[in-house]
Amino acid sequence: MVLFLWQYICINGHEFEVPELDEFQYGTLLLRNELDEIQCVYVNDKAFSEIDKLVSGHSLVSNYEEGDLTDIVQSVFSIACDENVDGGGKYNIRTNQRCPKCGTRNMDDWGQIIPLKPVEVDVKEVTHNHWFSLSEAEKKSLVDAAILKELKKTN
Ligand SMILES: [Zn+2]
Repeated sequence: MVLFLWQYICINGHEFEVPELDEFQYGTLLLRNELDEIQCVYVNDKAFSEIDKLVSGHSLVSNYEEGDLTDIVQSVFSIACDENVDGGGKYNIRTNQRCPKCGTRNMDDWGQIIPLKPVEVDVKEVTHNHWFSLSEAEKKSLVDAAILKELKKTN
């Protein structure tokens, strides 16, 4: 997959380059795990649609604006994604690549580098074997817990 280098500045002022999707590319999202390994998901993905439906219709977020709701859907989607068998933790759309100097994932600023700097990166599509093995009730209870966790983080 062709990605493009973006310039990031962490909260401690370190500048570094990170491969990301082109900012005008819609329909695809990248996920990163704790080891900064990258996978992708396409928005027509079945598990993504299920999470989107379960979160959007959830009473805990019924008063949320669309942008905030999108953030929560993207965070919660992590629970539907398989981890690598050899470790690395959860894949999450909202996980920033770690700053190579200080290790923080909290960023002050970011933007795609112009002129474009394309890089070829081997990106696999995220899988959902565990998620699809769950009952509807199990899925709902996982989503409940994940939403509560998100709400605690933002409040
Ligand atoms: Zn830093």
